[in-house]
Amino acid sequence: MTDSAFSLPPLSAGWPEFPPGWVWLMGAGPGDPGLVTLHGLNALHQADVIIKDALVAPEIAGWARPGAEIIEMGKRGWARSPTQADISARLIELARAGRRVLRLKGGDPFVFGRGGEEAMTLARAGVPFRILPGVSAGIGGLAYAGIPVTHRDVGDAVTLVTGHHPENLDWQAIARGSPDIVIYMGMRNLGVIRDALIAAGRAPDDPVAVVANAATPAQEVLETRLECCAEDVAAAGLAAPAIICIGRAVLLRQALDWQRLLRGEKLRNLDPLGTG
Ligand code: SAH
Repeated sequence: MTDSAFSLPPLSAGWPEFPPGWVWLMGAGPGDPGLVTLHGLNALHQADVIIKDALVAPEIAGWARPGAEIIEMGKRGWARSPTQADISARLIELARAGRRVLRLKGGDPFVFGRGGEEAMTLARAGVPFRILPGVSAGIGGLAYAGIPVTHRDVGDAVTLVTGHHPENLDWQAIARGSPDIVIYMGMRNLGVIRDALIAAGRAPDDPVAVVANAATPAQEVLETRLECCAEDVAAAGLAAPAIICIGRAVLLRQALDWQRLLRGEKLRNLDPLGTG
């Protein structure tokens, strides 16, 4: 350790050593740098080069050991950005050059993060890798809005989907599959998704929350209903990155929006499901 800021608590098995020539795929969580795991911090302390996604807070890369190289390789839905093949090729090239390569991704690398694809490319190239899971936006991000992704009084299942290509999904099955549906990358197609869910039998007045920039200082939450969610999002000017949650879990926010407590405000309704 070169810097006391990196000191980690003792771990009985010892903290893993980052061997040269390896790639570690790390999830940085949805925003708040405090959601980085201790394994992540241990990785940041040792990496020679960090390949960072656009959504990762700059502060986190700032925790890298002094002298580490930081390469911004953000893939974004719009603008010109490196392709997945470019990123994978870069990871392989750097690892083969004997560097300790930390691939820093938003949320959890294996949840809609293409971490599986990157790791597969490494596996096929014979580059050794390790996965450092992170807090996913569809779980921890919703928690920052006071929405528990599951709750015993709401139901026993939750469905995580990507709204990027809604034509690929079986909306009949999704509509019936679980009381709560959490949609990543759904902003652009929200109108299409809404229509598909209502056509598949979801109640038009199903509660919806749209949480933009979850777990960051710019977090914004819109509470609406399924039938008017796309219009309300447009009117509010909410933009990606945002997580959309559909179902009664959204109502729990009335009691569980702990950020109100931070602001010294009262919780809105302590019986949001009307269960007494
Ligand atoms: N691997 C990431 C998801 C990457 S896909 C994870 O596990 O969280 C990118 C999508 O994730 C965005 O379009 C958005 O739907 C969601 N997302 C990521 N960070 C977010 C944040 N801070 N607030 C809201 N949504 C976020």
